[in-house]
Amino acid sequence: MTGSRQQVWRLLPFRPGSAITSAMPRILPITSESLVLAGREIRAGRLVAFPTETVYGLGGDASNGIAVATIFEAKGRPRFNPLIVHLPDRATARELGEFNDMAETLAARFWPGPLTLVVARRPDAGLADLVSAGLGTVALRVPAHDGARALLLAADRPLAAPSANRSGRVSPTTAQHVADELGDAVTLILDGGPCTVGIESTIIDVSGSTPLLLRPGGAPLEDIEAALGRTVPIAGVADAIRAPGMLESHYAPGLPLRLEAREAAAGEALLGFGPARDATLNLSESGDLREAAANLFAYLRALDRPEFSAIAVMPIPKTGLGRAINDRLRRAAAPRA
Ligand code: AMP
Ligand code: MG
Repeated sequence: MTGSRQQVWRLLPFRPGSAITSAMPRILPITSESLVLAGREIRAGRLVAFPTETVYGLGGDASNGIAVATIFEAKGRPRFNPLIVHLPDRATARELGEFNDMAETLAARFWPGPLTLVVARRPDAGLADLVSAGLGTVALRVPAHDGARALLLAADRPLAAPSANRSGRVSPTTAQHVADELGDAVTLILDGGPCTVGIESTIIDVSGSTPLLLRPGGAPLEDIEAALGRTVPIAGVADAIRAPGMLESHYAPGLPLRLEAREAAAGEALLGFGPARDATLNLSESGDLREAAANLFAYLRALDRPEFSAIAVMPIPKTGLGRAINDRLRRAAAPRA
């Protein structure tokens, strides 16, 4: 059923300047017209699936918290793991992250290409907090794919882009895979043919004094070690803090969190959701989960202050994006190791 509906869309004439109004995915070849349209979609906070040399990515404006929340929603991710931010070149990447000698060496040798560098995030980067799940680091990559690079230039935004599949499923390497996976959740898919590398990027954390392999992938570890002139240890359990999602309690606020709170007790800050007269801050007065996800990390940090005894958090629905929000709140509330 989905397949035949997509076939129909492919036959529809493309009109430059037309907005995408239907909920149906549109697969378009990469042309100057489709790039203009895609760039406009990204700047409007909507998602565009696009090819890279590794796999197809589900891209959104990394400086727009709502767009980033929409990525998690579309993938049905049960938790907010940090996303890779894609840039057209090294100069743009340096505006978002701090490049030490290791980062410079690896970027010079492997970019554009299937290597992601985790670096300290610049405070003035203008990135959404959600894109690095509240961490002080950010994962950056310059893809080696003409279509991806053309989209990055057309959008004029850093693109947060995990693989364009539903959470827990294999990564898509053709435009049709993306359409089959994400269906109505993505309105525009740029078709650049099959991906040439077909596996994810290698991820190296160079934010500390020693490099660390967080994920093996398209750039061989041996080549990375040769470029750095040293061995690169593989992240283990002891490095869990640097490989997010592995610890129950990580980058939690200093204050205790009290979940499912109806109101604040004396001395507590109240983090609201939905209508709440007494909220110190409200994740979303209208009860919008995307807005709440976009605000989550910044608001937790803002309330983590000595004048409060704890942060009381109002109930948040456990459906859709609410699952990932509750996952993060539960882990922030977990007893500290
Ligand atoms: P995906 O977007 O699905 O290819 O996955 C991105 C991977 O990058 C995940 O395994 C993340 O844990 C990892 N990652 C992204 N940003 C960071 C970061 N700031 N620190 C450590 N790992 C990161
Ligand atoms: Mg993936």
